[in-house]
Amino acid sequence: MRILLTNDDGVQAAGLLALHQAAAELGDCEIVAPATHQSGTSHSITIHGELTVERMHIDGTLHGWGVDGKPADCVKLALRHIMKDPPDLVLSGVNAGANVGINLLYSGTVGAATEAALNGLPAIALSVHQAIDEDFPLAVEPCRRVLEALLAAELAPGQLVNVNLPNLRNGAIRGVRVTRQSPSRIRESYDRLKGRDGLDAFKLGSEYWFEEHPDGTDEQAIRDGYISVTSLLIDRTDYARTQGLSELDWPGLS
Ligand code: MN
Repeated sequence: MRILLTNDDGVQAAGLLALHQAAAELGDCEIVAPATHQSGTSHSITIHGELTVERMHIDGTLHGWGVDGKPADCVKLALRHIMKDPPDLVLSGVNAGANVGINLLYSGTVGAATEAALNGLPAIALSVHQAIDEDFPLAVEPCRRVLEALLAAELAPGQLVNVNLPNLRNGAIRGVRVTRQSPSRIRESYDRLKGRDGLDAFKLGSEYWFEEHPDGTDEQAIRDGYISVTSLLIDRTDYARTQGLSELDWPGLS
């Protein structure tokens, strides 16, 4: 099996090394990841700029391709130019920080996996809640076991799965929960800073929490110490409200 590994924390991130360690025995892994940190870039792509590609040393004998672009750029380039043969599976992560609830909309980790799914490939995004670099060695074995379980089930073409590990410094992982994406709003704030030339500047601040914790959600699972596994859709059509819209008295525009 050929596996493409990518992320949004950058090709040198500790989480990507952990992902390689988790996936190395599952198939032939190729790393194509952003050359620099691209968290929060969602599914953005580079339209006007050039995408420089560089073979980069990662760790010991491990090398990967660093792309001067976004996570979704990396997947596109990997599929169309960098990999000799297309992968059978795309893995994105392991991200430093959970990607649960509405954070999926901001996540470059999920953005890369989504791009793979758009191309008809099974794709899995993996993240660890509140992770620091020292946590990632602890993530290798749980990630490997979750990947083995998912692959044993034979993921469908274009299937998109989001995996989140709980904080790994809070004791043993309690198990796996299959969950739904939390719909909760996030309470957040910006800290006011002194910007350049005396201008006001703001930085996304330390206040940050989910306002609700509905049962059965990804966010609640990692809060309870479980690994969360969520199957995601790309189609954002609101089917329940489509009929109502179609029945409106629309103006004739012929
Ligand atoms: Mn990230």
